[in-house]
Amino acid sequence: MLEMQNALYIVPTPIGNREDITVRACEVLKMADVICAEDTRHSLPLLESIGVKSPKLISFHDHNEAEKADRITAIIEEGNSVALISDAGTPMVSDPGYHLVAACVQKGIKVYPLPGPCAAITALCASGMPSDRFSFEGFLPVKEKALRDKLASLVTEERTMIFYEAPRRIFDTAKILAEVFGDRRVMVARELTKTFETKYYTTCDRLGEVLNEDPNVLKGEMVIVLAPYRKKDEDETITAEAKKMMELLSGELPPKKVCSLVAKMYDLRKNELYDYLLNHTDCQ
Ligand code: SAM
Repeated sequence: MLEMQNALYIVPTPIGNREDITVRACEVLKMADVICAEDTRHSLPLLESIGVKSPKLISFHDHNEAEKADRITAIIEEGNSVALISDAGTPMVSDPGYHLVAACVQKGIKVYPLPGPCAAITALCASGMPSDRFSFEGFLPVKEKALRDKLASLVTEERTMIFYEAPRRIFDTAKILAEVFGDRRVMVARELTKTFETKYYTTCDRLGEVLNEDPNVLKGEMVIVLAPYRKKDEDETITAEAKKMMELLSGELPPKKVCSLVAKMYDLRKNELYDYLLNHTDCQ
């Protein structure tokens, strides 16, 4: 049986699939004296579904965060346990919570972060992009100039980049991505963990066209994962002739076979060819 402390518990919640809440997250939410929620009405159905009865809820969002942080730290100092949740995913990842945690750290209050769902990490895992180093960039600016400046500032970023984006903005963003990054690899993940989860694997200059082929593209939520800058891009070591051969063979043979044949024919690395093939398949 979990023993709650007078502390702040950071509790991630599902980003779409209700089953993705952890056993420990359920326990903490059931036992916490107070739950701080970004939107209390939004969180009630989830809390009810995991058996949290009549929770003591405090609303906690971007506009009242700084002011509520004092009140919540006082509640913890009076001997209570407080759980923080956001509408979906991990609090503080493009969600409120930073001021509250900073206040807890400053006052010496214990903070227990629980691991759990996060759209950025979920998308990265399926992207086929390097995951040893990555940079989470949050939401992109809305205005065209600010968006172009932001993306231009990332051209030589050597880590994989992750952005959150609203579907209604994706075509504008795709246009600027194409201008700034040309044929750099990109992956867009839509509706992760949900019934209509879709991943689009392509290059920035083809993104608009690839998305346009899906009549449902404007529905749901999205993450963009952009390949890092490479001084010598791996694709460049694969000659145009080898790429053409892969394209031809792909219609006839399974990917592994294609890569092992082309690797032998052109003296290339199988893994490199496999990465190339994966990232040039448009939709999944
Ligand atoms: N705290 C959340 C997390 O841990 O991922 C993110 C909150 S942020 C306000 C919401 C954004 O996350 C959405 O606009 C979208 O970019 C991304 N997102 C959330 N759920 C998603 C999903 N199921 N599929 C794709 N993107 C998602």
